[in-house]
Amino acid sequence: MPGEGVREFTFGRHRVTALSDRRGRVPADGQLGLFVGALPEELRALLPDGGVENAVNAFLIRRDDRVVLVDAGVGAPAGGNVRARLAAAGVAPDQVTDVLMTHLHGDHAGGLHEDGRAVFPNATLWLAQAEADYWNDDAARDALPEGRRGGFAGARAALAAMAGRTRTFAFVHPENPGNFAPGLPEDAAVRGNAELGAQGFPFSVVAVSLAGHTPGHTGYGLPAEDGRALLFWGDVVHRVDVQAPRPDVSVTYDVDPDKAAKTRREFLELQDATREVNIEVVVAGAHLPFQGVGAFTKARDGKGYVYAPWPGGRDAAPPGEGR
Ligand SMILES: [Zn+2]
Repeated sequence: MPGEGVREFTFGRHRVTALSDRRGRVPADGQLGLFVGALPEELRALLPDGGVENAVNAFLIRRDDRVVLVDAGVGAPAGGNVRARLAAAGVAPDQVTDVLMTHLHGDHAGGLHEDGRAVFPNATLWLAQAEADYWNDDAARDALPEGRRGGFAGARAALAAMAGRTRTFAFVHPENPGNFAPGLPEDAAVRGNAELGAQGFPFSVVAVSLAGHTPGHTGYGLPAEDGRALLFWGDVVHRVDVQAPRPDVSVTYDVDPDKAAKTRREFLELQDATREVNIEVVVAGAHLPFQGVGAFTKARDGKGYVYAPWPGGRDAAPPGEGR
């Protein structure tokens, strides 16, 4: 069906398109070993229908003449659909001007390259220096059990395909509070930021350190306009069925599970704190159920959160109708 797996949003001057790379719930039983910090019986109680969300999403931002991809999915050879979704949205691979990477796991960076070649031949890759450093670090790789080192080869292959067209950035104060969107409360627990516009990115995007899932895990914030900001937050919530009610539960994919949980707590709380000053922070998540764009509110138990898809989406216009 044309337009399937493609959903559009408007945030201020940005036309944002969610692209479904892979969708679907999977049986929970095979996933219970993925979680860190909860007993199997606690997990089963959180998953009454026996399934868990396992989606992969990428996102497109169009503004002026820029065509910006946020993450690239698993890649077509691994069954990923980002390129097909881009085509459905009217975008050819050579039209992508920039790719903002949240991190270099294979379900985000795999779609950057095929047979050693860049899939988006004209795009600049934007990436936190801390993320590139981690995946290039032989000592970090060798410290892991052998079965968990494969990600390093994948990350390096993606970086090699984008060599010469990669721009890395450092966070200003990686451990200090900062703001990704003007108007957010000063005490918002946002750690570190880098204003990419000042570093040559074509419009104002603030990179935010979301370290934990990986050492350079990065969110990208579109500044608040009309009282609403959008934060592309990668894998802050990896399995929403479990981590919304239990933000303290991490996953084995987290390089630092404790730090990942702290980051998750901070950014869930941020959404509540900003609502009190009439700013809505909408998040776009790589593993939230497609459409992937929504918001979290505090649950009645005062500990967990409830996720709801943001209602402002619309089905994508057919290719050719505007850009
Ligand atoms: Zn991921």
